[in-house]
Amino acid sequence: MSNKVSPNNSIKSILESSDLSAKKNLGQNFLHDSNIINKMIEGEDINNDDTILEIGPGLGTLTKPLSSKAKHIIAVEKDRDLADWLENNVKEEGISNISIIRGDALKEIEDPDSTLNSILPKDYKVIANIPYYLTSHLIRILLEKEDRPQRITLMIQKEVAERICNRNGNSILSISVNYYADPKIIHIVSKNCFHPKPKIDSAIISLTPKEDIGNNIFTEYFFRLLKTGFSSPRKQLLKNLSQLGEREVISSILKSSGIDPEQRAETLSLSDWKNLTNAYLAALKIS
Ligand code: SAH
Repeated sequence: MSNKVSPNNSIKSILESSDLSAKKNLGQNFLHDSNIINKMIEGEDINNDDTILEIGPGLGTLTKPLSSKAKHIIAVEKDRDLADWLENNVKEEGISNISIIRGDALKEIEDPDSTLNSILPKDYKVIANIPYYLTSHLIRILLEKEDRPQRITLMIQKEVAERICNRNGNSILSISVNYYADPKIIHIVSKNCFHPKPKIDSAIISLTPKEDIGNNIFTEYFFRLLKTGFSSPRKQLLKNLSQLGEREVISSILKSSGIDPEQRAETLSLSDWKNLTNAYLAALKIS
């Protein structure tokens, strides 16, 4: 495709002419394929009332097209050099609805007193091509946040996207994400769409948070059981879960939830874990 060559060159030339270089430790792989940029933006159904939270805007490849569709883009960038470059560039282009926060996205999202949380409205969407080292942690804190995003669209590693969408069986990651949200793979993205080129392909994934998750107590025990159940994934559930109570009691809770105590954690579906949580809470007489 003709438009693949020039944007890639322009990423390289921006980096060179601005004395910037891609920093590996910050997971910098810049997106340069305009078709993919459009796919990420279109997947979200953005309108001019929307506030978008972007993590790691880099050179603004997504940020700038987003700014012409949404009301406000709040972008958190850890690399000060890139943040300075982008802030200048946006000013030069006369774009006024992008706010850049310099900082670590994880801290900004988690800390209730952060700059981000002082300006983020209750309703917002997340769109980002993120550094891959952040993936699980970032998804977890976004989904656990009191004001959860209306929708999350992320570019992540293909195999992680497939794991989240349960393509290869249940994992602690897939059950955790599916507890909070409905995940969907929007598009598989070749590693050739990035500069520098990463070793593996990526995927655009969309997470739509569910309305009806359990209350705080249910959620707390659900994750306690899930983590303990997966603590030694090769061992039988009964063995792992016996860390949480008498072996006989755990065995009867498992049986009353329709689960064979000899099963392994990876054989349980989301609804199995929910049934197990209900049975455990009932046995503890917690509601
Ligand atoms: N979104 C851009 C850049 C992707 S590279 C694009 O699609 O081209 C990942 C970006 O995340 C880089 O800009 C990197 O500096 C930034 N980043 C890395 N760790 C971060 C963190 N903890 N918090 C915020 N930004 C981070």
